[in-house]
Amino acid sequence: MQAALKRSSLAVIRWFDSWNGTANDAVAAPEDVAALEDVATKSKIDWGRVVPFLAMHAACLFVFVVGFSWVAVGVAVGLYVLRMFAITAGYHRYFSHRAFRTSRFGQFCLAAIGASAAQRGPLWWAAHHRHHHEFSDEPEDIHSPTQRGFFWSHVGWVLDRGNFATRLERVKDFSKFPELRFHDRFDIVAPTLLGVSVFLLGVALEKWAPGLGTNGWQMLVWGFVVSTIALYHGTFTVNSLAHVFGTRRFATKDTSRNSFLIALITLGEGWHNNHHHYPASARQGFYWWEFDVSYYILKALSSVGLVWDLRPVPERALAARRIER
Ligand SMILES: [Zn+2]
Ligand SMILES: [Zn+2]
Repeated sequence: MQAALKRSSLAVIRWFDSWNGTANDAVAAPEDVAALEDVATKSKIDWGRVVPFLAMHAACLFVFVVGFSWVAVGVAVGLYVLRMFAITAGYHRYFSHRAFRTSRFGQFCLAAIGASAAQRGPLWWAAHHRHHHEFSDEPEDIHSPTQRGFFWSHVGWVLDRGNFATRLERVKDFSKFPELRFHDRFDIVAPTLLGVSVFLLGVALEKWAPGLGTNGWQMLVWGFVVSTIALYHGTFTVNSLAHVFGTRRFATKDTSRNSFLIALITLGEGWHNNHHHYPASARQGFYWWEFDVSYYILKALSSVGLVWDLRPVPERALAARRIER
C-alpha cells in the first residue's frame, strides 16, 4: 500500500520534473534501470505517469463544446506542420542522426519547438531512437510491430514504465548542453508555454477581431490539443505502420518500408526503408519524386545559412543492397 502510494506520488512529481529521483540527474533511478532490463518481456503501463497523455486525448471531445472556426483550424494545421518539422528535422534527423549542422541557437530552437509537441525531451527521444536503429525488429527493439504487434509499436511502448528514463549514455554528444538537459528534465515547460500562448491568442482575437469567431478556449482545444494529438499519431505511424505497409527498395535487416502516405503526414519520414538503409542523410526521400517536406525546408534554411553541412546520400549507398530498381 505504502509502495503504491509512493509510486503514484512519484508519477505525479515526474509530470513536472521527469528526472526526479534519478541519481546525479545523469543516470536512471534504480527502479527504472530494473524496468529497462525487463522491458522486452514484462511491459507495464505506468498509469499514474500517463494521465496527462490520456487526458489530452479525452480533451479532444471539447471540440463539441467550443465549436469551430477557420482561424482555429488554421492555427491547428500551422502548429502541426511547424512542430512536425521540429520533430522530423530536429529530434530525428539532427538529434538522433546528426544529419546536418546548425548553431547552438538553431539547436536550441529545434529542441524548444520539438519539445512543445509534448513527445518528451530531445535527449529522451534521440536516445530511444538510436536504440531502435541498433536493434531494429530484433527482440530488444522497443517498438517493433513484428515483435510485439501494432498497439505496442504505435503507442504501448510510450506508456511503458521501462521506457520513461532518458538513456543518457546513448546521447552523450548532446547531453552536455544544459539547455537540452533542461528541456529533457522539465519536458512539460514547452508544451505548457505553447498552450498558454495559443489560449491568449484566442482571447486577443476575440477582443480585437471578433469577426473571426474564435476565443481562448476554442483556440486552446483546436490549436493545441487537437493539433498535438494529431502530431502524436502522425509521428507514431513511422514506428508502427512504416514497418508494415509499403514497398522495400533496399534489403535492410529490418522490416522498414517506404510509404508515400506516411511521408505525406510526417513531412517526409515515410521513406522509412530508405532511412533504415542510410540513416545518416538529411533527406529521406532519395529521389526528387519522393516527397520530403522536411528536407525542402532544410534546403531553404541552408540557403540562408541557418543550417549547413546537410549530409547527402552517397552513390554507393543508392546502389548497395538494392531490391527494387
Ligand atoms: Zn524504424
Ligand atoms: Zn532514424
